Amino acid sequence: MSLLSKLRMVNGFIMTKYFNRTPFYATYNVTFRCNSRCVYCDYWKSDSPELNTENALKVVDRMSESGISMLAISGGEPLLRNDLNQLLKRARDLGVINTLNTSGLIIKEQLAFELAKYVDAITISIDGPPEVHDKQRGIKGAFERSVRALALYKSAGIRVGINMVLTDLNKDLVMETYNLLEDYIDFMTVQPVNPPLKNGISEKTISDLHSIKGKLFLPESYIEYMKEYINGGFNKICDALKLYYAVDPLGNVLACAARHDIIVGNLLHDSYKQIIGNISKTSMEEIDKCTGCYLVCTVGVNMQLKQSVLNSAVQVIRAYK
Ligand code: SF4
Ligand code: SF4
Repeated sequence: MSLLSKLRMVNGFIMTKYFNRTPFYATYNVTFRCNSRCVYCDYWKSDSPELNTENALKVVDRMSESGISMLAISGGEPLLRNDLNQLLKRARDLGVINTLNTSGLIIKEQLAFELAKYVDAITISIDGPPEVHDKQRGIKGAFERSVRALALYKSAGIRVGINMVLTDLNKDLVMETYNLLEDYIDFMTVQPVNPPLKNGISEKTISDLHSIKGKLFLPESYIEYMKEYINGGFNKICDALKLYYAVDPLGNVLACAARHDIIVGNLLHDSYKQIIGNISKTSMEEIDKCTGCYLVCTVGVNMQLKQSVLNSAVQVIRAYK
């Protein structure tokens, strides 16, 4: 992580936690095209348009200008964009902590070394041991390819981690997955699929999550309340458009990464500040009516900021040092 990024992160954390300055975090889905076929996702089924390079750079500029400390470039599969390095470079030059989410199915040595210049961390989605991951992601051989990608990015000097989406198929396999991949990763996150699992989650999974100390990049409270959320007794936590927001491939500002239907403006036409200043009553009502979520990039961010500064610093240093 560059010195400028570290300073921006520390400043953002303190300003958000103690002086209520927001937003802190944003996701930019640069494309919805995807080479995975995940059972719980519809993005890959549609052929949705996306911005050209010039306009996508303008979106990155405006996202940085909105004051965020952390930017997650996501998709679809972001690496399907030929200009991804330009977008990442722009964000890096602006001093935003730059993370990239990928399925790990595209493995190119030269690309890995290019990405290493601009990315602070890469998260690869891995949902379990080989058969389970391949089944859930809908691609034969996906696990093996994603693990090769982890090794390649790590050898290029990038901090790498995995995100595991818990479904009824893999919810008892957290520890097994961690043990399989521990040597390849710097950090791991785990989140329940949205909407939540139909058949609940076991005490064993929660206790496994509590026992994975070193590389699990999740606040303790996130693990603690996961069962309550899945079983339906969790009081909604929502900081949409305050602590975080998301942007779709056309530059539309969304309430959060989970609600692509709540569009409040477009960064090609207005700044984030202007959009928030003119937000419609209908959009606010939609956010109020939303029944909740439990994503790392929504509730997880809230809980991360509620931790003690020491706990957060230890986790962040472990993941991004
Ligand atoms: S990798 Fe992400 S965007 Fe692609 S199909 Fe899976 S969940 Fe959807
Ligand atoms: S509660 Fe709804 S609107 Fe709020 S962050 Fe979660 S999904 Fe988004």
